[in-house]
Amino acid sequence: MSLFSAIKFRQQFPLIESFNTYEVENTNGLSGLVYFDNAATTQKPQQVIDSQNIYYSQYNANVHRASHQLSSKATFAFEKARNKVRNFIGANNIKEIIWTKGATESINIVAQSLARNILKRGEEIVLCASEHHANIVPWQIVAEQTGAVIKVLPLTVNGYIDITQLDSVITEKTRFVACAHISNVLGRINPIEQVIAKAKSVDAISVIDGAQAVAHLTVDVQSLDCDFYVFSAHKMYGPTGVGVLYGKKVLLESMTPYQGGGEMIKTVSFTQGTSFNSLPFKFEAGTPNIAGVIAFAQSIDFLSPFLVDENKGYSRYEDKLVKHCYQALAKIEQVKYIVEGTPDIGVIAFTVADHHNHDVATSLDTFGIAIRSGHHCAMPLMEYLNIDGCLRVSLAAYNTIAEIDYFVDCLKKVLLDDYLVKNNAKEEIILTSQSQELENIIALFAKTKGWDSRHREIMLLGKKLIRLDKTLRDDKTLISGCESYAWLKSEQDAQGLYTFTADSDAKIIRGLLVIVFSALNNKTALQIHKFDINDYFTKLGLLQHLSPSRGNGLLAIVEKIKMLAK
Ligand code: PMP
Repeated sequence: MSLFSAIKFRQQFPLIESFNTYEVENTNGLSGLVYFDNAATTQKPQQVIDSQNIYYSQYNANVHRASHQLSSKATFAFEKARNKVRNFIGANNIKEIIWTKGATESINIVAQSLARNILKRGEEIVLCASEHHANIVPWQIVAEQTGAVIKVLPLTVNGYIDITQLDSVITEKTRFVACAHISNVLGRINPIEQVIAKAKSVDAISVIDGAQAVAHLTVDVQSLDCDFYVFSAHKMYGPTGVGVLYGKKVLLESMTPYQGGGEMIKTVSFTQGTSFNSLPFKFEAGTPNIAGVIAFAQSIDFLSPFLVDENKGYSRYEDKLVKHCYQALAKIEQVKYIVEGTPDIGVIAFTVADHHNHDVATSLDTFGIAIRSGHHCAMPLMEYLNIDGCLRVSLAAYNTIAEIDYFVDCLKKVLLDDYLVKNNAKEEIILTSQSQELENIIALFAKTKGWDSRHREIMLLGKKLIRLDKTLRDDKTLISGCESYAWLKSEQDAQGLYTFTADSDAKIIRGLLVIVFSALNNKTALQIHKFDINDYFTKLGLLQHLSPSRGNGLLAIVEKIKMLAK
């Protein structure tokens, strides 16, 4: 067994290694990268990348179907990976390991193939307040289908499931208890042993979402004695598009698959109907992600030695990173943790006074630092904590203390009130006539090089937005699909020209609104619909950073404008 070495560990990740220049000032787009978004997905070590290549270049074939050698080789590797997962989580039987696309699909299978068939009106599903949407929405759908009711376990002030509330929330009416082993926002290891035991005591079925746990803890499903345990490969150094549904055999056998197709059947006949294949195949309709599954086995080989008890170096190093980051951030006056206390894994969530999360994250991006802002697919948690969203730093064992120090320094710079002023653009844009304004913006961005300078210009442009009156912020003007809040109102004059006014709580969005308005204000509906916004953003050199995706809200803004201009 190889002992953990932080340096050697990091060297296994080609993407991380190739972006080792974060100390150099980032003036030309992505010249450096500090990747602190590991809770979303981890980077991949070379052996995982290689194994996909080897499969495709040396033994690509479909599994289980053919009698030729190539298929046998692929099937052998595919099933070997299943056995690896079985060992990795200590499952009793290989039939209990179902391949899925990820934790999300795994939960949906339990909801649709089991819960939907057994839940009765008024029976209860218990979730925790900090669940990821993946462990909420499938239950809401099944509750809607069956008339079941969702109940929510509250949290302690430190963000753990409050076990003092178990007896009052989990009762004889409870049929399912579904909760995360570790929340993707709070980074706390939940007391799932107690939750599972309580579920068992009322004959409820326990479903544990291990998406954030498997890269950090040794999981043994038999000693946990949970009914289901789900996770995704991509959060544990494996490929995307592969996940696992572990379930107790007796339960899986009782379930009816909710997807049909090839591979999951024993016989199909127009006259006799269909009989399903045995476990685990009856839940694996269609051609699976063979390359992904095979590469997943490599990520387990890569990670497992570090999770074993005798090799404390890995978790000690992860602890060191999280403590260092937590303490350094705590020294910044404006930083407020969303719950108190150092997290158990490297997932640190906070807000900063007087700054929109989105602005902080995009500003840090100009320094080559990738952190996340928003609701982190946990909107009910945001509501529970009474916040609109937060920032999240999520660390992996290839991160370093130097990266954390660099991040904290950059955050301090971003938070300096005069940061934007000091780094001000040399040239003031004068907003005059509409066409002039568009030309000025294009000319300005043509001279501006690099994402950091362009970002600064967008933030400065935001100051020029004529802001919508606060009284007009309502459901009608709200732009849905924006990560931050944005409101938009339109007026049409006698010539049929539209004027838009808007506002947002994020500076970056205010800047984007000015840019979009310079193109679309004072135009007819036809002109608005004909305007090529992608081309405009390409001209400005912004498309690669601000592609009109849902994340930055640009698409939502443009779509709302088009909707209003009919
Ligand atoms: N649960 C938790 C706690 C997560 O963090 C995530 C991913 N962010 C999921 C479920 C869903 O995982 P996936 O998107 O891989 O299905």
